[in-house]
Amino acid sequence: MECWDLFLVEERIKTFKNWPFSDKNKCNVKNMAQAGFYSVATGADDADAAKCFLCGKELDGWEPSDDPWAEHKSHAAKCAFVQLGKNEDDLLLPELLSVIKQYMINETKRIAELSKEQIDEKSKVVRRRCLVRK
Ligand SMILES: [Zn+2]
Repeated sequence: MECWDLFLVEERIKTFKNWPFSDKNKCNVKNMAQAGFYSVATGADDADAAKCFLCGKELDGWEPSDDPWAEHKSHAAKCAFVQLGKNEDDLLLPELLSVIKQYMINETKRIAELSKEQIDEKSKVVRRRCLVRK
């Protein structure tokens, strides 16, 4: 996730610029955003690519009749947001805090994963240099 803004449903709605379905469809922008998704589309080819702000699950290939909550649930049952199963406006403070906590845990894991990769990369380079020197 790029920034904390995406915790807010209004901000997630703003990310859907070329969403293929209209508000009459169940799979509309508002329902997508309420189910935790924001758009990660880069162009016309992946106009329906969407990602969960909390668990980071990315889904595309949406059908107009899809229920974003149901899809989120079936593809990422462990997502803390799915497990609450509520719109943000209805969340109680402890629930909201647990979502934020889960986000921090996920983010910390992601960063740890990234730095591990960087360290592995670096150690490879160092090893190669040592071998050359011998
Ligand atoms: Zn999720």
